[in-house]
Amino acid sequence: MNDIVFKSVLTCPHCGFAKREAMPTDACQFYYECGNCKTLLRPNPGDCCVFCSFGSIKCPSMQARDSSGNTEFRL
Ligand SMILES: [Zn+2]
Repeated sequence: MNDIVFKSVLTCPHCGFAKREAMPTDACQFYYECGNCKTLLRPNPGDCCVFCSFGSIKCPSMQARDSSGNTEFRL
């Protein structure tokens, strides 16, 4: 069983500011406000959350899907 990572470094595409953030395990985070330039980030088309688009690691639900091949998220 693969370990799921719950921390990701989000990098703002506008100013390059990077911050380590905890990822919610029970929901996808759709909006994220950059702590530096205050830009409200939204996921790229096809991505489920801001961590998939701008984070160093995909969100927990995507990690679970990648490791199991299943769309269902299990802890
Ligand atoms: Zn920014």
